[in-house]
Amino acid sequence: MATYYSLKKRKNPNLLSLIIPCYNEEKVIPFLKESIREILPKIPSKVELILVNDGSSDHTVEELIRWADEDKRIKIINFARNFGHQIAVTAGMDYANGDAIVIMDADLQDPPEVILEMLSKYREGYDVVYGQREERAGETFFKKVSAWAFYRLMKILVHKDLPLDSGDFRLISRNCLDSLKEMRENHRFLRGMGAWVGYPQTPVIYKRAPRAAGETKYPLRKMLRLAVNAAVSFSPLPLRLSLSFGIFIAIVGFIVGITSVVKAWMHYSGLYPELVYNPGWATIVTLLCIIGGAILIAIGILGEYIARIFEEVKGRPLYVVESKINFDSKAKKGSK
Ligand code: UDP
Ligand code: MG
Repeated sequence: MATYYSLKKRKNPNLLSLIIPCYNEEKVIPFLKESIREILPKIPSKVELILVNDGSSDHTVEELIRWADEDKRIKIINFARNFGHQIAVTAGMDYANGDAIVIMDADLQDPPEVILEMLSKYREGYDVVYGQREERAGETFFKKVSAWAFYRLMKILVHKDLPLDSGDFRLISRNCLDSLKEMRENHRFLRGMGAWVGYPQTPVIYKRAPRAAGETKYPLRKMLRLAVNAAVSFSPLPLRLSLSFGIFIAIVGFIVGITSVVKAWMHYSGLYPELVYNPGWATIVTLLCIIGGAILIAIGILGEYIARIFEEVKGRPLYVVESKINFDSKAKKGSK
């Protein structure tokens, strides 16, 4: 890990914004409420909670509105549909007024007590304090293995400074947040963006708790989409790999072609009549399949990049807010 010589001690943030994306979390909200009620008096700053309802189809909104009625520190951003976790967090970042923010999941897998440790690192001068998972309690073997592979692969593809085994649970200072807010790409991988902007970063180690209630909103399909986003939005490596693979296949094809011509010539010219010239049906079919496959893969990878260019060129806002609760009218507008 890098050593930072420019760290300057500072005070607790005046206002801390907790950003919590919620997608079909009606079962979790009561636990979240309880746990936030316990932690708030321990946080040495004023706190606002920004809960982003990411187009839930259950009673999450009703639960959130009831909570916001009881406590004016609870602010709600209600999306017009489901835009996905990374975008929900982005909206929270856009609307946060704090001198620092903390991003956490609604399901209490990120224990709120860790915020206190994050704040102590903030006071030491770090701009990003990310939670690094020590252990994954209550998760399936498959989830553990896929997460392990995901983080290693992402480090190669996204950024060398991408911390291992850490999710989006992190504290970010206002400085760093303002830099992140300038990045308006559609396909977002916030952790990679965090590594890209730099700033002094440090981990706090924590035990990832099991989900408080309900089930995961990140099925394999969404995890894969995030992985593809991360890889393709950050790195030209897939394109380069497909180019190298293409070159490799072309060289193999060239060698096979030359040898068969030479063999045929030796056979028919009578130079080596005993050389059995095999018409090589199998070779042709195999090569055809490999080459056809390689071309399709390469086109597919190209397509992924072009699709992203297409999305970015349209310049649409990242999300659509249907309603907001407990924000004063001066609150900034979210998208671009
Ligand atoms: N989430 C969201 N939109 C989505 C999927 C998930 O806002 O489309 C939220 C979800 O409500 C939770 C957080 O993102 O607060 C993390 O999701 P989850 O706990 O299901 O993921 P896991 O911890 O299983 O990876
Ligand atoms: Mg979770």
